[in-house]
Amino acid sequence: MDFSSKLLENAVYEMSQLPGIGKRTALRLVLHLLKQPKGRTDKLALALQDLRNTVKFCNNCHNISDTELCEICINPKRDATLVCVVEDIRDVMAIENTGQYRGLYHVLGGKISPMEGVGPQDLTITSLVHKAKNGEVKELIFALSSTMEGDTTNFYIYKQLEGLGVSTTTIARGIAVGDELEYADEVTLGRSILNRIPFEASLKAN
Ligand SMILES: [Zn+2]
Repeated sequence: MDFSSKLLENAVYEMSQLPGIGKRTALRLVLHLLKQPKGRTDKLALALQDLRNTVKFCNNCHNISDTELCEICINPKRDATLVCVVEDIRDVMAIENTGQYRGLYHVLGGKISPMEGVGPQDLTITSLVHKAKNGEVKELIFALSSTMEGDTTNFYIYKQLEGLGVSTTTIARGIAVGDELEYADEVTLGRSILNRIPFEASLKAN
């Protein structure tokens, strides 16, 4: 792409670093922003800067939070012995939307993926095992998407918890293989949490 302006070229380049945004889309978005009142762009830039500079992660579940402990973790009505293992905040939001779950979450921050260079040490698995060792967890529900990476991560955690007296379950697969949680409809997802099955049974089924 030939740009008449270095400023424009820089803005398009930065925009095109976002996932799923090619150079053409980046150019369209940047030109769109240019047409907006200047205040719009300022607000966008400031919101991103504020988020990046002050974002916190809950000390207990690692979800994005404005406070040291998130609203879910400090809610006394939630069952702290029941912990649902998810990849990121999108899964928390999807499960919360079902209104069917009263336990807490543990946000891993990704899935084990040798292809993408993500190992167990890059995720919050140590803190999860720590919670289990402290006897804080009675049941762990695996709710990662049923991709190879999701299955690998589930199995790794399952092995780490062996002998700790934590029962492990997995959400029922009303959700097709490879579907991401955030795309499952609320009724299906809600049902699959209520009808969860022992994790070992899911291993035999494969
Ligand atoms: Zn939390």
